[in-house]
Amino acid sequence: MQIQPTASHFINGAYVEDTAGHFIDVVYPYTGEVVAKVHSATPAIIEQAIAAAKAAQADWAARSGVERGRILRRAADIMRDRNHDLSVLETYDTGKPYQETSVADATSGADAFEYFGGLAGALTGEHIPLAGGDFVYTRREALGLCVGIGAWNYPTQIASWKGAPALACGNTMIFKPSETTPLCALKVAEILYEAGAPAGVYNVVQGLGNVGASLITDPRVAKVSLTGSVPTGKKVYASAAEGLRHVTMELGGKSPIIIFDDADLENAVSGAVLGNFYSTGQVCSNGTRVFVQKGIKEAFLNRMSERLASGVNMGDPQDPDTNFGPMVSENQRSIVQGYIEKGKAEGARLVHGGGTPEKEGFFIEPTVFADVTDDMTIAREEIFGPVLSVLDFDTEEEAIRRANDTEFGLAASVFTNDLTRAHRVSAAFEAGTCYINTHNLAPVEAPFGGSKMSGVGRENSKLAINHYSEMKTVYVSMNDVEAPF
Ligand code: NDP
Repeated sequence: MQIQPTASHFINGAYVEDTAGHFIDVVYPYTGEVVAKVHSATPAIIEQAIAAAKAAQADWAARSGVERGRILRRAADIMRDRNHDLSVLETYDTGKPYQETSVADATSGADAFEYFGGLAGALTGEHIPLAGGDFVYTRREALGLCVGIGAWNYPTQIASWKGAPALACGNTMIFKPSETTPLCALKVAEILYEAGAPAGVYNVVQGLGNVGASLITDPRVAKVSLTGSVPTGKKVYASAAEGLRHVTMELGGKSPIIIFDDADLENAVSGAVLGNFYSTGQVCSNGTRVFVQKGIKEAFLNRMSERLASGVNMGDPQDPDTNFGPMVSENQRSIVQGYIEKGKAEGARLVHGGGTPEKEGFFIEPTVFADVTDDMTIAREEIFGPVLSVLDFDTEEEAIRRANDTEFGLAASVFTNDLTRAHRVSAAFEAGTCYINTHNLAPVEAPFGGSKMSGVGRENSKLAINHYSEMKTVYVSMNDVEAPF
């Protein structure tokens, strides 16, 4: 299949190039090879995208919700039909195994277009009766031109999770992918256009953070939705505030998993595997602080080590049997290696992995530390790689207090067979997305997002509609105007 895109940007319904923009190499993380090159957006490209998206918005918003929804649902169908090719591309872009990308990326994007396509025709305001026959009605209106900025771990999914609710509400979008993974969002734009989205409704421009920064400071932009790290979130939030723009911030985490003695051990190990090693640990909501009650700690560690020793198949990510891929980049691998060294230096017990396999690609072994304490760097900072820390505890009260002792608040999960404890602990978690006896599922029907430093707003579900639209109040008088003079 063709990896090199037709051109770097997708604007106003067509691929567009400006070779004056500097080159961004697309590196396949399994081989280190440059598999494609795109140009960063120049000021002329940014202007072209903003002008096109702004010009397209009024007509798009004026169409009926049913019509917008039909186009989004058609895009969902096309994505499903092309799942294989899109998954292969996602694997080249990110290095995640095809075994994952074929079930978690384009499929999740298609779910978003189908779900929000279904909602588009049902978006309404309300009628509010008042005294004397007067009444108010509200109109749910689009915000206007929205900017989406994505991280590199789920490029198709992020481009779709932002695009689908934005377009359903009658907004237009300019999406800037991470410069590490620029390819997949172009396919989302191509598919939307093919499905009937008018030119300019969904545009993609490439570039580093500075391209994102100049998009969000433009006065024609009404909203920015970022998926990225907390430091970037602070910068983007601050510059959006200058123009009082709407924001959605999907940021990082250091989420806890609490496993009680009475939990099903095999399920708890599976949850911790999913919450630490899926996508080679490059998932925002990962449960990287695994609090295990003392009575089952050694049994948990033994079973986790057995599962990792016998189950991990590290290799060519395009091979459907591979279930553990490389890190997205050499840089990200060395960041993770640095954290592993810190874990050892600060006295954590290395139970599994910790090394870099002798093979091509930016691989790092799935790594488990035990006897981790709350103050260690590996227990406090987001690592964004396959490093699981086990911390032990005695009581429920202690586990909750320590689990919440973090600036982050993205996700949290509890494993127990005690029904009331499961709900009590979930209520006590300071996190936006909680799980009972599982971890890391994100169906489009459910709100997803973070509390505290992990974010502002929610993606997915009916709630996302509130973050891509606003209510206009129309007061209707049925009586003469009463004036004092
Ligand atoms: P970054 O914060 O480094 O980058 C995110 C995006 O923001 C990139 O496209 C980046 O561009 C862009 N950017 C950087 N600086 C600016 C700026 N000043 N103005 C506008 N845009 C800017 O995150 P990563 O790409 O490294 O992704 C990993 C992070 O994303 C982790 O912290 C992870 O937890 C978080 N994440 C959160 C999710 C959630 O839903 N809560 C889901 C997935 C990831 P470029 O990189 O091209 O320079």
